[in-house]
Amino acid sequence: MSVLDLARAEIRALAPYSSARMEASGGTVLLNANESARAPSIPGGDGLNRYPDPQPRGLVETLAELYGSTPDRLLVTRGSDEAIDLLTRAFCRAGQDGIVISPPTFGMYAVSARIQDAAVVEAPLDADGSLDPDKLLAAVTPGTKLVYVCTPNNPTGNLVPLETLKRIADALQGRALLVVDEAYAEFSGTPSATTLIDSYDHVAVLRTLSKAWSLAGARVGTLIARAEVIGLLRRIIAPYPLPSPCVDAALAALSYEGRRVQRHHVHELLNERARMAVALAKSPGVRAVLPSHANFLAVRFDDAAGTYKRLLAAGVVVRDITKYPGLGDALRITIGTGNENDRVLAVLRAGASA
Ligand code: PMP
Repeated sequence: MSVLDLARAEIRALAPYSSARMEASGGTVLLNANESARAPSIPGGDGLNRYPDPQPRGLVETLAELYGSTPDRLLVTRGSDEAIDLLTRAFCRAGQDGIVISPPTFGMYAVSARIQDAAVVEAPLDADGSLDPDKLLAAVTPGTKLVYVCTPNNPTGNLVPLETLKRIADALQGRALLVVDEAYAEFSGTPSATTLIDSYDHVAVLRTLSKAWSLAGARVGTLIARAEVIGLLRRIIAPYPLPSPCVDAALAALSYEGRRVQRHHVHELLNERARMAVALAKSPGVRAVLPSHANFLAVRFDDAAGTYKRLLAAGVVVRDITKYPGLGDALRITIGTGNENDRVLAVLRAGASA
C-alpha cells in the first residue's frame, strides 16, 4: 500500500494548473505570462514585474540541507499554516474523513479541518502535559486521515520523544498520515522526526522560518515528506505561493552571516527562557511555570484574567490560553528581549503591592 492510497481520489486524478513559469524553458524575451515588461519604479522593484519561481531551486536546496533532507522531499509553503491546509484538503474528504489532535495544541489543525468539513477527534494530553501514545492511537478511527503531534507543543511547551513518535508511526502504517509539527524545534535541541521519513512513507514534518529564524512576516514554511506526498500537494498549492521578496529574505537569513546571527539569537532566547522560568516561578500570584522547550512559557496564575488585564494596562500583550482544556488558569508568555521580559516581571511585582 502506498501513502497515496490514503489521499482523496479526486486530488490524485486532478490535472493541476500549469503556470506559464512552469511551462517556460529557456528564452530571454518573456512574453508568455502576461506580465509587465517594465519593472516597477519602487525600491527593490527589480524583477518584481515577473512571477516568482513556484519552488525556487536555491531556497529548496538550502532548506533541504538545513533540515537534513533532500530537495525532492520538500515543499516550501506560505508558513506552515499553508502546509496544514494543503494536507487537510488533499487527504480529508468533506463530511467523511477526519483528523486526530491532542489538545491543548495549536489551533489551526482543527480550524483547517472544520473548513474542509472534516471531523476533529480529540485525544487530550495528560494532566502533566505529556502525550500518551495509547490514548492518541485509541482515538484513530477508519475515517482518520491525519494524526497531528506538535513537539515542542504550543501552548504547553512539552516535548514528545522521537521513540514515542516512532511507536505512533508504526501503529499508523497503512491507516493515516502522522504529521509532526516542529515549529519550535530549534529551541529544543532534540533530534527531528525527519529521520523517520526514510523508514515511513506516511510521516510528514512541518518546519518554519517564523520562530527561530525571525521571519514570521515573510511566511516561509516547509513540509518534509516522501516525494509522492510532495508531488500530491504540488497539485493543489497556489501557482506562485512564494513572493520573491520573501524568498530573498529567507536566503539572506540562511546565509553564513544570517546563520551566525540566528545562533546568537537562539542562544540569547534560551538564556532568557531559563531566567524567566526561575523569576516567574518566584513572582507573586504565580502558581506554576510549565517546563518549556519552545520560545514561550505557559504560566499558571492565581488570577489569570486579572493578570492579563494588568499586563495589558502596562502595554504588555500576552496570550490568554484559559480556554484550552487543563489550562483554565494559564497565560502564555512569549520570551521577548531582556527589557521586555523585565517589564512582565515588574508588572507582576507591582500587582503584589497593589
Ligand atoms: N505550528 C505551530 C505549532 C505554531 O505555533 C504556529 C504559529 N503560531 C504555526 C505552526 C504556524 O506557523 P507559520 O505559519 O508562521 O509557519
